[in-house]
Amino acid sequence: MPGSRLDPKITAQWARVRGLMRSEVGDASYRSWLKPLTLVEVEEGEVRVAVPTRFMRDWVVSHYGDRLRALWMAENPAIGNLDIFVEAPRTKPVVRQVGASRNQAPSAAALKKVEPATATDISSISAPLDPRFVFENFVVGKPNELAYAAARRVADSEVAPFNPLFLYGGVGLGKTHLMHAIAHHTRQKFPERRVVYLSAEKFMYHFIRALRFHDTVSFKERFRSVDLLMIDDVQFINGKESTQEEFFHTFNDLVDNNRQVVISADKSPSDMEGMEERLRSRLGWGLVADIHATNYELRLGIMDSKAERIGIEIPTKVKEFLAHRITSNVRELEGALNRVVAHATLVGREISLETCQDVLHDILRANDRRVTIEEIQKKVAEHFNIRMADMHSARRARAIARPRQVAMYLAKQLTSRSLPEIGRKFGGRDHTTVMHAVKKVEELRQADVTFCEDVDLLRRMLEG
Ligand code: ADP
Ligand code: MG
Repeated sequence: MPGSRLDPKITAQWARVRGLMRSEVGDASYRSWLKPLTLVEVEEGEVRVAVPTRFMRDWVVSHYGDRLRALWMAENPAIGNLDIFVEAPRTKPVVRQVGASRNQAPSAAALKKVEPATATDISSISAPLDPRFVFENFVVGKPNELAYAAARRVADSEVAPFNPLFLYGGVGLGKTHLMHAIAHHTRQKFPERRVVYLSAEKFMYHFIRALRFHDTVSFKERFRSVDLLMIDDVQFINGKESTQEEFFHTFNDLVDNNRQVVISADKSPSDMEGMEERLRSRLGWGLVADIHATNYELRLGIMDSKAERIGIEIPTKVKEFLAHRITSNVRELEGALNRVVAHATLVGREISLETCQDVLHDILRANDRRVTIEEIQKKVAEHFNIRMADMHSARRARAIARPRQVAMYLAKQLTSRSLPEIGRKFGGRDHTTVMHAVKKVEELRQADVTFCEDVDLLRRMLEG
């Protein structure tokens, strides 16, 4: 037993490292990825930790490796290295005594093999729902009206109206909120339906477990009994071929049997890099609903709704200020409002513009630095005196194509958008067009001083 060789001091350190990780990553991720780690030995400044599968090793190394090592080093300065390696679990059959008294050896029939946890009821796989994430609390505006309408339709319908419903949009724009709302509504309206909501990460975890217990058949069987399956953040399924394959089959099965599937991701199916083409195109078969970045009206509406819900009077000026300045996403906007309210309540100050400036200076600064592709297009169009519409148009005249290329180049430099995303914002162009534009502008900058100054000037203006 490796456990017996370990110094109790080391065991205690490991317990603390695990405790800290748990509080950092949350219970769900902890259970999926960190709990299965087994400390095997500590030798010559190296901690060796075993995981049951290669897949898990890769995930743990890339997501938690650095942090684990840092926590170990903080616990024990002698440690310099962390080795996470694969070791298949020694599967002793787990036995449970049924009806055996203390003095009597259990008969063979009384020894019942305990089923692995994967054989439990499918509903237990569903993640808990946030009670606040209901349709009534969702503020609808231009950027999210399609996604909202589609979500309502799915939740209200007797039969799947489109399958799958694919919701996509940037972080903090309400994907999870809408999915939970569908679940709440469905459970209320059709109590007999089996609703399962889980993150793609969780889905993978269950799948890996099933693999480990050689139980993939019943894994699939159990998913087949679900009426409404929702998988959040499927971008995390990217690149893991076996899981993709499994996901694909489960998904096909459900759709073929008219079960509703709802998927969310941070990109559209066609932009999911590292996903098998077959799966990518299949995901786009139903309705693909894009949640766009918020606009001012929506943000103001959300401020109003939120203020009303927490029952605190917030001056209009303050709401306007926040809606105007915190443009990144709804999560951050809510966070900012909470912070201002908490602060004002704690120190007994009234909620004012000054409070906001004081309490939120970091968030405000971070939001200031963000430039959108639309702003870039607008500035560049103004500068070169072309129409904004030409940023999207198919016109190829150099007087128009060149500024468009400059705007693409700046979009690449100043935003974190991917090439396909940028292409889409320029009238649905291919990512290779964007790549070409970036290269072209770089070349011209080398060759032409005036052009170079122009581009730099635009850049400075946009960075403000
Ligand atoms: P995502 O899953 O897209 O990253 P979430 O659904 O977790 O985003 O939303 C982040 C936060 O913003 C949640 O607290 C959610 O309730 C809130 N939120 C997002 N969009 C809206 C909206 N349109 N109306 C009200 N609250 C919203
Ligand atoms: Mg989410």
